[in-house]
Amino acid sequence: MTEILYAKPAIDAELEALKSRTAKIKQEHGVIPTLRVILVGNDPGSIIYTNSKKKFCEKIGADCEIIKLDESVEEKVFLSEVDKLNKDMNVHAVLIQLPLPKHLSHIDTTNLVLPSKDVDGFHSENISRLYRNDKSETGLVPCTPKGILTLAKHYNFNFASKNVVIIGRSLIVGKPLSLLLTNLDATVTLAHSKTHNLKDLCLRADIIISACGKPKFLTSDYFRTDQSQIVIDVGINRLPNGTVCGDCDFDSIKDQLSAITPVPKGVGPMTIFSVAQNLLHALENSL
Ligand code: NDP
Repeated sequence: MTEILYAKPAIDAELEALKSRTAKIKQEHGVIPTLRVILVGNDPGSIIYTNSKKKFCEKIGADCEIIKLDESVEEKVFLSEVDKLNKDMNVHAVLIQLPLPKHLSHIDTTNLVLPSKDVDGFHSENISRLYRNDKSETGLVPCTPKGILTLAKHYNFNFASKNVVIIGRSLIVGKPLSLLLTNLDATVTLAHSKTHNLKDLCLRADIIISACGKPKFLTSDYFRTDQSQIVIDVGINRLPNGTVCGDCDFDSIKDQLSAITPVPKGVGPMTIFSVAQNLLHALENSL
């Protein structure tokens, strides 16, 4: 029978450990892990995501404040806010919620937050650690790829020697994930919109991870019918009727697979979980 890889059991299994780490830091160092999220404007999706991050951080005993900047905020005001948080010794991690409004979208935010506070794991210093397969574990790993590993660990599947197809080569999901899984001895194919034989690649894969942002794009003909493949659906797509779906046509494909993540309740909450993990990791590194 197909296993549905819900996030909740994976998160519940790790929750106490995160709470204990927070309590230990407070007890031994008198410090409360502190995250600041910069939210510019009123994008409804961004408001939901930032609130979820705040709620989860508070659940583990950490402090998270959302710094709301006006939709029309001047570039220099936005940049000085980031700079202020970078310099604030009482702030241990900073996250810039994307997307930024149009007039700020030319800013390359990758290296704005200090690498040591870069809870998103986007800074080139952190990505370089992935690239080099740095084993020191001091780097901060991008949250969605990290969440996928936590999920896989919980459900006891690993990537070593597996043929993995990742669909989507963005800087926040596909590319860092391809490095992470290569480091874990997977054989990775990174597909994108110019890939010609995507269906064939998927049919031959052991694990398919989709992050292309196309609602119900992956239909049953992309997968074998022998219940041997695992599908991880990163996509979060809003349909015209307001409901959310993934990149996979979940109902029509699930029975032919070994396991699949649902949308919602799959990779999304794992990403938020990783934010809290990275916050603690950033602080522990600095102590
Ligand atoms: P981007 O839009 O940055 O990238 C999409 C990628 O998909 C691109 O590399 C693009 O190729 C590729 N692509 C588009 N169409 C096709 C196609 N027909 N066949 C193959 N590849 C295709 O997206 P993000 O990585 O930011 O996000 C992807 C999805 O994941 C979205 O739905 C987003 O909402 C979701 N998401 C979910 C998260 C979670 O926590 N669950 C976190 C982050 C994102 P090309 O490079 O050639 O344009």
